[in-house]
Amino acid sequence: MSSHVSPRLLRQYADGEDLPDSTTWAVDVHLESCADCRARLATEATSVAPLVEQVWAGIAAAETVPVRRARRLTTWATPTMVPWLVMTVLVTLLAILIDWLVAPPYPSVALLLAPVTPVAGVAAAWARGLDPAHELVTATPRAGLHLVLRRTVAVLAVVIPLLAVATWTSPIRWLLPCLAFTVATLALGGFVGVRRAAAGLVTAWTVLVIGPSLVTARPPAVLEPTALGIWAAVFVVGALVLRLRATVYTRLES
Ligand SMILES: [Zn+2]
Repeated sequence: MSSHVSPRLLRQYADGEDLPDSTTWAVDVHLESCADCRARLATEATSVAPLVEQVWAGIAAAETVPVRRARRLTTWATPTMVPWLVMTVLVTLLAILIDWLVAPPYPSVALLLAPVTPVAGVAAAWARGLDPAHELVTATPRAGLHLVLRRTVAVLAVVIPLLAVATWTSPIRWLLPCLAFTVATLALGGFVGVRRAAAGLVTAWTVLVIGPSLVTARPPAVLEPTALGIWAAVFVVGALVLRLRATVYTRLES
């Protein structure tokens, strides 16, 4: 299996064909780091469409700041993440309001939601998804995982400060569960697709932890500091699965 962009895909890319966003991103990511493919693209573009070559040469040689920023945005975040961002901010504000209205010992809603807050964001980052059959994806096995990790970092960069504000008294309780859920979503996503993994984990958490906790008005045992070892184990196993199955993330379903 080649680790470069296939000739056919490179031609489609050079022609500006209507490829799925994620496919274009994966090519972008590969081109960033592969001089060979950049050279092939230049040749391709010359023979197919001089204009495209001109544009690419312009981008490669002297990228303007907006272009560079836009390209960076697509590898770190996607437009499909905007509704998620709005929803996350609103839900967190609502949780803060409820916590302010309902006094302890009633469990903090913000704390109950914290572990699964990034999960929807990870799914949103893949809302358009990668076409599982697309040849590009097999052509650039590492690009997929890089994209996944970059966008996950972008999600966490939003979620962690937000949660820190919402649950300022107890970051120790949710930070590790939050990271464990994120890694578990990605690891499980390699088997069933990220969106399905996210939906399954959020449902399980809601039914098994949030529901009982609200009904009994007692904070869940899994968010006590004594449970941190379990979350650490989940995180490590998830990260191992992620590393061992890296190539899977180049052909994830949305
Ligand atoms: Zn290459």
